[in-house]
Amino acid sequence: MNHTAENETRAGLGTFEKTCGYCGARFRVLGTVAKDPLRSQAYEYDCPACGKRYEVQSGAEPEVRLLRGRTDGKDDQYQETMF
Ligand SMILES: [Zn+2]
Repeated sequence: MNHTAENETRAGLGTFEKTCGYCGARFRVLGTVAKDPLRSQAYEYDCPACGKRYEVQSGAEPEVRLLRGRTDGKDDQYQETMF
């Protein structure tokens, strides 16, 4: 009788840490790796500090957790170029 929470403890695959190229914030992106590579798709996620948009290949919508705040000393938002 040994119950292990397999579903909960599979951290690692698809998860990585990133430093925002705009504001210097450090955050962790919790994506998943699809078993079928064809089901993997590009998801967009935002830097939690400035809102700069990034993309990741993942099997499901990634979760983003802020690890360290921005280091550029500003509090503006990243300006998305719309057109
Ligand atoms: Zn940022």
